[in-house]
Amino acid sequence: MCEFCTKHGEGKKWYENISNYTLEVFHQVNSEQNFKSYLANFYHSLSVDIRKAYTWKKRLPHIYRLLAYPIVTKHSKKTHFGQIVPLEDIENILTHFSSVVRLPCICRKVTTGQNKRYCFGIGMDLTPIFQDLPDFSDFDRLSIDEAKEYIRHLDKEGQTHSVWTFNTPFIAALCNCDRDCMAYRVQMKMELGKVMWKGEYVANIDSSQCNGCRECMKRCYFGAITYDRSNIKCSVKLLNCYGCGICRAVCKNNALSLSDRSAVPLAAHDW
Ligand code: SF4
Ligand code: SF4
Ligand code: SF4
Repeated sequence: MCEFCTKHGEGKKWYENISNYTLEVFHQVNSEQNFKSYLANFYHSLSVDIRKAYTWKKRLPHIYRLLAYPIVTKHSKKTHFGQIVPLEDIENILTHFSSVVRLPCICRKVTTGQNKRYCFGIGMDLTPIFQDLPDFSDFDRLSIDEAKEYIRHLDKEGQTHSVWTFNTPFIAALCNCDRDCMAYRVQMKMELGKVMWKGEYVANIDSSQCNGCRECMKRCYFGAITYDRSNIKCSVKLLNCYGCGICRAVCKNNALSLSDRSAVPLAAHDW
């Protein structure tokens, strides 16, 4: 289990500890006013502040890596970080609630200019806050069955799922993302800091079932699948795998599965 499970999991995976979604924990780490100001500034922070940081990093890459990268990572862990969670764990989380709120995806607004609703507000009812914020006010409410069906559809489409804190350990969002996600870009492309943790699992390919079609390789955003021409098979690069599980949906031979990260020595301590 990761450091967040150790600190906030009470013996479970931290995102399965349902107290982390409650009003009580919200009040331990947040005030309504601060939360509102944070969200009100979110679009600006994703579009302007990140661009500025990236410009700085390009100018002074070594200094950035040495000084700014650890600060960004530390700040993210304290305030707003995500962890990749596979579909089955998302479905388990959802069973604890009676409904969720589907919200506009701010990242895609920044990266593609499109208004799409891929984000879910989960846990305590934050709609009185969202309705006062122009970037978040276009929400709708889904029953848990509707949410599960929608997220299964997104999984097939190739969206990775993740949970996000708003002042750790309070969890308020469940995201469904692709390469247009700003967190993905900040971490994987711009390398500005670590804002998204690997999941509690890693993928495994049963080579006896694999025909080397490479569909999983095209699906993986994290460069975690490699192809071996000599035996016409794919395999998983464990240290690149985020355990999102979305590669499974494209494998017609059911060759892909997830294993507990902690049971795979090479990946067990790699987050
Ligand atoms: S984390 Fe994903 S779903 Fe959430 S706002 Fe960003 S791209 Fe959208
Ligand atoms: S999609 Fe399945 S069969 Fe195709 S390369 Fe990947 S693991 Fe092998
Ligand atoms: S190989 Fe790992 S990171 Fe890539 S899609 Fe599969 S589970 Fe996700």
